[in-house]
Amino acid sequence: MASNIIREWTGIQQFPLATQTKLLELLGNLKQENVSTLTILVMGKGGVGKSSTLNSIIGERVVAVSAFQSEGPRPVMVSRSRAGFTLNIVDTPGLVEGGYVNDHALEIIKRFLLNKTIDVMLYVDRLDAYRVDTLDRQVIKAITDSFGKGIWSRGLIVLTHAQLSPPDGINYDEFFSRRSEALLKVVRLGARLKKQEIQEFGIPVVLVENSGRCNTNDSGEKVLPNGTAWIPNLVKTITNVISNGSKAILVDKKLIEGPNPNDKGKLLIPLILAFQYFFVVKPIQRSIRQDVAKESRPLWELRDMGMSNREF
Ligand code: GDP
Ligand code: MG
Repeated sequence: MASNIIREWTGIQQFPLATQTKLLELLGNLKQENVSTLTILVMGKGGVGKSSTLNSIIGERVVAVSAFQSEGPRPVMVSRSRAGFTLNIVDTPGLVEGGYVNDHALEIIKRFLLNKTIDVMLYVDRLDAYRVDTLDRQVIKAITDSFGKGIWSRGLIVLTHAQLSPPDGINYDEFFSRRSEALLKVVRLGARLKKQEIQEFGIPVVLVENSGRCNTNDSGEKVLPNGTAWIPNLVKTITNVISNGSKAILVDKKLIEGPNPNDKGKLLIPLILAFQYFFVVKPIQRSIRQDVAKESRPLWELRDMGMSNREF
């Protein structure tokens, strides 16, 4: 497949020197930990900036970005290598269609990923959205049902459109933290994470501004309103997630064809039902039958059956 050709990561040279230096240092750290390949899966609703974020990280306009048209129906993997290190980023179609979760798209994404290992998942949404609703929760649930809860231990929430002036006089950091909290809550509910898991997973929230009009600092790096150079910050957070001790997600046949990876216990249900039938229901039926057989029949019944010689 053309998209799977590994090209030299030349896009990195498009970044200002300060960004390049930071990125190469982060990749160097990964190599020291014997990580020579990194596969990032990008998911989220349509139009939130998934493809733009991929282009921003790679430093090239590789995948199509569109404000209006719906995206292609298939995932695309973009691979770039640099000094023995390979970066794979999988861009995917939006997970919502016509107001519902697009399960078909998720199925296609899973199949596309067969035999690949997801090191990190970027769950992309916009910073400049003010509400979360049940649809967001359903999207999170669908992702969790497809890849298992473990995907969130390798997950990052990425908020695009981060160069904004918050409404109602709220300051930037407060707006960011409120939006993060709302989304993290939806992730917690949609993925049914326990309190302990949330602490273990510690899902980071990272800001991104893909617009060409993003402000820059003195070194020419793209910066957010709070001064953070966001590209190195995003890559740094990704490397932190990889080093957090959790397991990468191998998409094997079992994950694709098997039952919902969160429902393993439910496999026991038919067994439990069979057990109940043979060891509970059957014995009760048997004993009822025996009781009925043993029961001395009332006289009127015997009379009706012509078995009584007593006169009434
Ligand atoms: P996708 O459907 O999730 O892949 O979203 P796209 O990457 O195709 O982006 C949808 C639209 O949002 C395009 O018009 C992008 O130019 C725009 N966009 C994406 N990210 C940002 C961002 O961070 N800031 C701004 N201002 N626009 C963005
Ligand atoms: Mg796209």
